[in-house]
Amino acid sequence: MLCQFPSLHAEMLPGLPLKVDVRHVANDKWRVDYRFTQPVTAITMPTVADYRQRAWKILTPGMRLKAVGEQDVIAATSGKPFMAASVEITTFDGFAPKDYASFTRFTDGGTAIYLGHLQGEARRGKQKYEMQTDIKLTGLPKENVIAPPLNRQMPGGARGYAYFGPAQAVSAGGTKILMDPETPPWARETVLDAGAKLSQYYETAYQRALRDELLIMVAISGFEAPGLSMKGGAVMGQLSYRFEGKALVGDHPKKRDYLARLVAHEMAHVWQMNIARGGVGADEPWVHEGGAEAMALDGLQQTGLFSEDKVQAYLAEKTATCEKLGHSVASYDGIYACGLMRFDQLGVAIVPLWRSMMQATEVKGDVYSGAMIEALVREQGEKWRPGGAN
Ligand SMILES: [Zn+2]
Repeated sequence: MLCQFPSLHAEMLPGLPLKVDVRHVANDKWRVDYRFTQPVTAITMPTVADYRQRAWKILTPGMRLKAVGEQDVIAATSGKPFMAASVEITTFDGFAPKDYASFTRFTDGGTAIYLGHLQGEARRGKQKYEMQTDIKLTGLPKENVIAPPLNRQMPGGARGYAYFGPAQAVSAGGTKILMDPETPPWARETVLDAGAKLSQYYETAYQRALRDELLIMVAISGFEAPGLSMKGGAVMGQLSYRFEGKALVGDHPKKRDYLARLVAHEMAHVWQMNIARGGVGADEPWVHEGGAEAMALDGLQQTGLFSEDKVQAYLAEKTATCEKLGHSVASYDGIYACGLMRFDQLGVAIVPLWRSMMQATEVKGDVYSGAMIEALVREQGEKWRPGGAN
């Protein structure tokens, strides 16, 4: 199971409004026009491996794209200020392992483009600005375009996947679903059933309705690769899944369990981010990843999707993994397994803890952290222990 959830929390910078036109111009070609309201000297975006070097072509004369350290920078070769820049992008199939895929293809010819990779910061001299993007999407003639929810935390901030293609999304109980037509029935049923039960549970348990309809996209990358790969990603108000491999064919309870866990985990991230400010920080990923694991297990058990035995078996498996890793959260596996252990060992109910964390992060805008957990457990932990009043 791979969860794509890099931190979206930006430094606090002044905002600079701009319009970004994203146009699907040919089968695998996209044109992106940046139009600022004031002159800038550079657009900077965190590098996504070699995606932009390989797939982006700057169309504006006298301008170029250059990787500088961890940033891709678009600027005039003369260094002079500019108000507009145009880029042609070719659909890119590679992706950096721990980042979102820049594009996702569907078997019906549809494509989703990750808007977050078009967004970043602008500079005027040394002054940095957060790009406050007003994004306009235009598809090919007769193509259906589905925009991801707006970024409610940071207006104009990073957004998820926009879909261009023949499919229509279906609305069901506060959720909008776009499912690849080749999705096997067992996966379709699991996503719909687990998704509906868990979103209802999280909404009630965490006492927070989502501000936007949740948009769920399921893409099938193919049935040729050996084995089974199921990836999920949570972005602002959106869940995106990508399934691949021979083993997708054929129903099996183990595959349903695995997918239900992925749905529960990714949906927990949606609720972790369903706040007015604050949220997920960059420094302690075990907090939001281990937290999502703990919220998922609680959700799976409380909705009846998993029996208590199944939950205990998963906990035991993760405990063993964490012990092998020497209880360290320094590795990728440790973030999840030992992160889950840390929440489990607090000995308090996960729902009131995370409900309080969501409130705490909104009060001052501080990100979720180990220190926040410690303080909340110290203040209120007694009533969250089994038998405590809640
Ligand atoms: Zn995750």
